[in-house]
Amino acid sequence: MAVDYTTHDGVAVITLNNPPVNGLGHSTRAGIVDALERAQQDPALIAIVLTGAGKVFCGGADITEFNTPKATQEPMLGAVIHALERSAKPVVAALHGVALGGGLELALGAHYRIAARGTQIALPEVKLGILPGAGGTQRLPRAVGLQTALEMIVSGKPAMAETLANTALFDKVVDGDLLAAALAFAREAGARPGPYPKLRERAIDHPDAAACIESAREQIAQTAKHFPAPHKCIDAIEAGVVHGFDRGLAFERECFVALVQSPESRALRHAFFGERAASKIADVPSDTATRTIAQVAVIGAGTMGGGIAMSFVNAGLPVTLIDTSEAALERGLATIRKNYDTTVKKGRLSQQAADERLARISASTSYDSLTHADLIVEAVFEDLDVKEQVFRRIDQLAKPGAILASNTSTLDLNRIAAFTQRPQDVVGLHFFSPANVMKLLEVVRGAQTAKDVLATVMKLAKKIGKTAVVAGVCDGFIGNRMIEQTIRQSLFMIEEGALPAQVDRAIEAFGFAMGPFRMSDLAGNDIGWAIRKRRYREHPAQRYSTLADRLCELGRFGQKTGGGWYDYKAGERSAMPSQLVDDMIVAHARQAGIVRRELTDNEIVERLVFALVNEGAKILDEGIAARASDIDMVYLTGYGFPPWRGGPMLYADMLGLAEVERAIRRYAAQPNGDAWEIAPGLVARAAQDRRFNG
Ligand code: NAD
Repeated sequence: MAVDYTTHDGVAVITLNNPPVNGLGHSTRAGIVDALERAQQDPALIAIVLTGAGKVFCGGADITEFNTPKATQEPMLGAVIHALERSAKPVVAALHGVALGGGLELALGAHYRIAARGTQIALPEVKLGILPGAGGTQRLPRAVGLQTALEMIVSGKPAMAETLANTALFDKVVDGDLLAAALAFAREAGARPGPYPKLRERAIDHPDAAACIESAREQIAQTAKHFPAPHKCIDAIEAGVVHGFDRGLAFERECFVALVQSPESRALRHAFFGERAASKIADVPSDTATRTIAQVAVIGAGTMGGGIAMSFVNAGLPVTLIDTSEAALERGLATIRKNYDTTVKKGRLSQQAADERLARISASTSYDSLTHADLIVEAVFEDLDVKEQVFRRIDQLAKPGAILASNTSTLDLNRIAAFTQRPQDVVGLHFFSPANVMKLLEVVRGAQTAKDVLATVMKLAKKIGKTAVVAGVCDGFIGNRMIEQTIRQSLFMIEEGALPAQVDRAIEAFGFAMGPFRMSDLAGNDIGWAIRKRRYREHPAQRYSTLADRLCELGRFGQKTGGGWYDYKAGERSAMPSQLVDDMIVAHARQAGIVRRELTDNEIVERLVFALVNEGAKILDEGIAARASDIDMVYLTGYGFPPWRGGPMLYADMLGLAEVERAIRRYAAQPNGDAWEIAPGLVARAAQDRRFNG
């Protein structure tokens, strides 16, 4: 039973007891209704207290019941709240820890509310692309006022109970024994004759409600362009203001039902569950003992090493940064200092905190200083010979049990592990640039990586605020292996008739943060050039357009050289179409005998996105990724995939895989069509009307 029922001198205490957060699963909901009924029947009782066991009042819906029949089995939350309101004996909700989502809506149905200081209050549904569906949009404005309710519901952000102490939300905010305070309050209330106050009967007072609502709409016009939920939150609140509680409640329900089915909400819920799923590894039990990580060493103080070091010190872990020369170390440290200075100037970090973080970094040119490290992250040049030297040296010096990680983007982790006598301790930690900012961390599992090493780095990833996704060993792992196919398509398309600006514009309109050409100019075109040179050797059959090589031969490496696919004014980042490059593209096509044609934006988007999907299918079926949602998490957190579309695999699922297959076959019949090797797993799923995600 997920609800406890006790009596205390004339007061019934109904305690939600569904660990870990007293989620409102079916048995909790039914238990509350039963307990309320029981309390009505007992003539010895004059009042009821509703509270939560353990550390919280209630975290909202029970996410383990999402998408199961129990989620929609009566009594639904609305009916439970109705039962609270109807109770002939006064109900006092006693809140502590958190009252989130449905948990807060439940409390809003009580006649009185008391909170412990420090209780977090929120209606975060909007973050999952929905709105509070059990009266939250109607009762909260009546409790805290229109302005505050709009802010809370539209942003989903939490507030502390004490900041709302002077509103009708709380009758009392207490410091000491919450239950004792609630019982005393309940006895006093029960001694008075009913009826007892109901939020639904309160007016929403505001001198100019229409202006307040309009201003809320203006505030989200830009940020919520692609998300319907924030708009619907405002509409539902407005309905209550204009048409009163009952019609407002009915409209809220209508919006809820529509939003639950919206692709945007599907995408956000997918990401929410995808993040949780990604942290689980099928053959590594969640109770696997982990190794202690108290000291970190980072080898290589370049672009990545500096950002990686920041990620660790930001989470309180001391780091030793090692490079070959004082000059390289000083360069690396200067960049780190500059980054912290910028954050302090923007007001996002105090000077003191920045100083503390910097003080956690020590620098050294001697490998001897890594002997104390529990984790060593290598971020030196992307060259197997250099990695070999470095790993042989680490193997000699690192203490037993230390985890040896490589940040390599493209090299074979198993070969790197074989440079040591302890391949079980070697793992890939593929950070993304800038490493202190980007959420994604690909954890590369080598053939021999020990389970406790994996468990340890997954836990550590969480500690440093990263979304970790496990990838098997292959060229490019999950993210870069997929993007490679998109890059190939983008180069073919400019040969066939598009120009870089059109390709970027089309895919940015689809919602990517940055198109492939602007991205390449930012990262440096020379990086891709080096990778292609290796591929030409290792995979001579894989055909590329040579346009990108021509660009690099001109020394146009991107922003850092003042020009790449685009031109850049000195010191500026805005990309201006380059006549020189565009002419070069057209001339290149002519020489190759290609008759250029107009490409539609739709073709551009499909070829870029389906190239991801097609490679993603192979990655999934080869077991490089454990589940389709892992691939989506990589793209959402590391590659700027539009969050309202949920990642490439969910996007394909929502379109229908047969549709995706048809489009790919169409493109495969065009010039450059040989670049499409359609994934057997895509074809098989399409034929059986199955999806990538479950
Ligand atoms: P970088 O050239 O900016 O930095 C490399 C640093 O390693 C330099 O400071 C160099 O002095 C130092 N170094 C070289 N040999 C060394 C040795 N034997 N011992 C100690 N230090 C040594 O390179 P980067 O961009 O930071 O890339 C580092 C690694 O991270 C590469 O494996 C790369 O593939 C990977 N990576 C890069 C990115 C990116 O966007 N730049 C993203 C993910 C992963």
